[in-house]
Amino acid sequence: MGLLTKGTPLTWEETVPYVEYIKKHGIVQFINLYHRLKNREGDQLKWGDEIEYTIVKFDHANRKIRVSLRADDLLQTLQAREMVNNITSEGNPYLWRPEFAAYMIEGTPGVPYGGLLACFNVVESNMILRRAEASRLLKKDESLFSISFPALGTNDFTDPPTAPNPHDENGAGRSIFFSDEGIYSGHPRFRNLVRNIRGRRGEKVAINVPIYKDKNTPSPFVEKFAFDDEDAKRSALPDHIYMDHMGFGMGCCCLQMTFQAVNIDEARWLYDQLTPITPILVALSASTPIFRSYLADVDSRWNIISASVDDRTREERGLEPLQHNKFVINKSRYDTTDCYIYSCSAPYNDIPLEYDENIYNQLLEGGIDEYLSKHIAHMFIRDPLQVYKERIEQDDAKSTEHFETIQSSNWMNMRFKPPPPDAPEIGWRVEFRPTEVQLTDFENAAYCCFVVLLTRVIISYKLTFLSKISKVGENMKRAQKRDAVLNQKFHFRNKLANCMAPPEARQNCPAKNPSFETEEMTINEIVNGDGKEFPGLIPLIRQFLDGADVDVDTRCTITQYLNFIQKRASGEIWTLAHWMREFVMHHEDYKHDSHVPDTIIYDLLKYMDEINKGEKHCENLLGCFRSKTDSKIPNAVRRAEEQLIMSLARRKNH
Ligand code: ADP
Ligand code: MG
Ligand code: MG
Repeated sequence: MGLLTKGTPLTWEETVPYVEYIKKHGIVQFINLYHRLKNREGDQLKWGDEIEYTIVKFDHANRKIRVSLRADDLLQTLQAREMVNNITSEGNPYLWRPEFAAYMIEGTPGVPYGGLLACFNVVESNMILRRAEASRLLKKDESLFSISFPALGTNDFTDPPTAPNPHDENGAGRSIFFSDEGIYSGHPRFRNLVRNIRGRRGEKVAINVPIYKDKNTPSPFVEKFAFDDEDAKRSALPDHIYMDHMGFGMGCCCLQMTFQAVNIDEARWLYDQLTPITPILVALSASTPIFRSYLADVDSRWNIISASVDDRTREERGLEPLQHNKFVINKSRYDTTDCYIYSCSAPYNDIPLEYDENIYNQLLEGGIDEYLSKHIAHMFIRDPLQVYKERIEQDDAKSTEHFETIQSSNWMNMRFKPPPPDAPEIGWRVEFRPTEVQLTDFENAAYCCFVVLLTRVIISYKLTFLSKISKVGENMKRAQKRDAVLNQKFHFRNKLANCMAPPEARQNCPAKNPSFETEEMTINEIVNGDGKEFPGLIPLIRQFLDGADVDVDTRCTITQYLNFIQKRASGEIWTLAHWMREFVMHHEDYKHDSHVPDTIIYDLLKYMDEINKGEKHCENLLGCFRSKTDSKIPNAVRRAEEQLIMSLARRKNH
């Protein structure tokens, strides 16, 4: 959701004179925050998920489905309830926040989960109740989906109807497909980002997704658009689905997880260790095969969001010689990370980093070490897009707003999150950001618990999967391809390696003898083992659980999740992307020309809605699993686990 600040947002032209000032002070704010909190110790492992939902409305008479622009209505009630719950002793079971689109809402658990293994048994229940709470506010024929809507930007895709107007001088996006009414308007951040990305870039964003070529797809595939539009003429590529608005990317839904580490070192280390895992999750969670009602040759939304917020100028994209800008920049501000940030990981950083020497030196002189300085300086090649007229002058000793404005608009596969200045209970965290959101709560809980358990395994066994960072970028490209889980291979370490986690690592840096050895492995080999030396991520998790004292219900639930993920990895059950493609391919209205007409989208989502409500089941997609999820951890289980943790800690101290 990003930083939601109050004030009058500046246009790009109005922002330009303040860019250097904001960056300089953003860095000062980071340095101050770092020194204030660098010695913060002993935070617990806490974690939480974020799920984004799309509100839709079925038009049964016309077999058409539209996104319903009612996020603001729903949020008014959901957030009012939060205020009331906050004063009761029970607190909030969930929190609701706005997201980019006027048809989206984002939900999280009310408080983060803690370190008890029994927490894994409440995740799904929280997701179910969360969805139910928002669903109660829906009107007749509306439904709530945790998916990216496949017909964004098509004719008449919103309810109430809206029309794009590329000629509107005051328009934020000026898209030929996606009207600005599709942007959430309850906070100026979103519209302003759209306007300022276009302003900075100097033209509309251009998203070109390779089209899936079916037997009747015209070749080359070239569309005639409803508007005579210069940007479209210049940017739309043949054999691609062309899109021109931030909403096509940020209007998709995702699943993210945040973890709190015991201290800053562990957060930096964990950020690095999870980075090579991100492409694996993209392939495993693939859910987005249709864009603007066309079948794409990719299965996920990652590159689409990346292009949808690409504010680089033509100079920065290397299309014109540098004259007004400082750098040619290889990636959009939404993309995979270019560097690891823990000192021992440095030998794996093989991508040349762009950064401003002055900013880098400002960080070094401020007492930040080389690796963190490079990471922050590299983020700060991006300009602030969100500056509020009333908030330019800040107390840099207290505020981190200028730092956050740049940090929260660098959307990478991992995010290193410093503690907020005004929330003493929150420590150093990392966010795992690439996972595609799933249709059902069972699946979302399964992916979420899988990643969290993986962090436990990595920390407990001090495992490392680090590969050269360039290979992570390459893997991310492969992960988005159609059926990557079945057909692609990924650079991955096929031998288990230990890496000393902090604090030992500081004295005995394992990367003095780094191993760059990776092999090209399938997702099945990575997740389930290669039958040779590599045991597989899930067998490793099982081994970890065998050595831990987990209550029966939680172990049962986790087993269901792990079995499910194993089958997704082996291809025995399908990704949502694969399942959606199959549905389209076998629909009688499909003409094998890559176009997915409204009637198919309607039938597809109606079927998905029924699956979600438990009225239908689809084994190809979900297998046959049921967890023992519960809304609360039973007191006896909580006490037993807490006692065990205390006695282990006592034994360790002796
Ligand atoms: P974002 O910066 O991505 O908008 P937030 O910081 O609002 O996200 O929180 C996102 C997730 O972090 C939620 O799932 C929330 O439960 C979880 N969370 C909140 N506090 C903590 C914490 N101290 N440690 C770990 N996760 C937390
Ligand atoms: Mg979000
Ligand atoms: Mg997030």
